[in-house]
Amino acid sequence: MKTQPSLLETVRKFNSEEMCVRHFEKIRWPNGLRCVRCDSDKARRMTGEAAKRFLYWCPACRYQYTVTVGTIFHDSKIPLIKWFLAIYMICSAKKGIPSLQLKRELDLGSYESALYMTHRIRLAMREDPDFCEKFSGIVEVDETYIGGKAKGPRGRGAANKVPVVAMKARTSGKIRMQALEAVTGQSLADFIREHADPASEVHTDEFKSYLWLDSSEVRAQVGEPYSDLRCSGQCPHKRSRECVVSFQARNHGHLSQGLREVPAALP
Ligand SMILES: [Zn+2]
Repeated sequence: MKTQPSLLETVRKFNSEEMCVRHFEKIRWPNGLRCVRCDSDKARRMTGEAAKRFLYWCPACRYQYTVTVGTIFHDSKIPLIKWFLAIYMICSAKKGIPSLQLKRELDLGSYESALYMTHRIRLAMREDPDFCEKFSGIVEVDETYIGGKAKGPRGRGAANKVPVVAMKARTSGKIRMQALEAVTGQSLADFIREHADPASEVHTDEFKSYLWLDSSEVRAQVGEPYSDLRCSGQCPHKRSRECVVSFQARNHGHLSQGLREVPAALP
């Protein structure tokens, strides 16, 4: 199961600006470098002096850019190594981390820089300060298909639709969701593992993909009808399933990016 890495692991993994850039490169372009402007796959790393600034160049549109263009790190003089450590600190601190402490620990030039970083990181986490914390207690998981203009069957397997999985913590009423490439036992289980505490009790419907969870480390309870579950969050819906579905509908515009990607546009 994936757990948060230790501080030592994090520092070892990101102990130079180059390691941070290469790591971010892999996240951003898992199938090889792409141009951020024209999406050409001919883009390449620049050499010589430009390599010291980690620049890329696209021969197709002659654009020069860095790995951070269009991300929360864009337009910032703060090195990625400090950004990554700030993300680690913010994710590790259960009750948030004061910007003054961030400034001190990361040797930032000013309090404003620390505030700026905190704001950007929070933005990437969809302004959810509890993003890094796993849901505990009883969590409900459901998936649906949204979008697509073509008429066709509704529900699982519908054409031109994006599968979305959502998880709701019953006690707090908080919801997390993610667009999936495909609904499989593995993708659902990965989502549940990432967002639910191993000690939590997972309530799902009877769709067989979830049965994979039975042998895993989370306790799965399959088959409880959603109509019996009350939503205790701040939503107008009486039943959890309605709440989850409604939340998905309202957030339709954000779904194509999924939860992990940073916003492409700057605020
Ligand atoms: Zn290009």
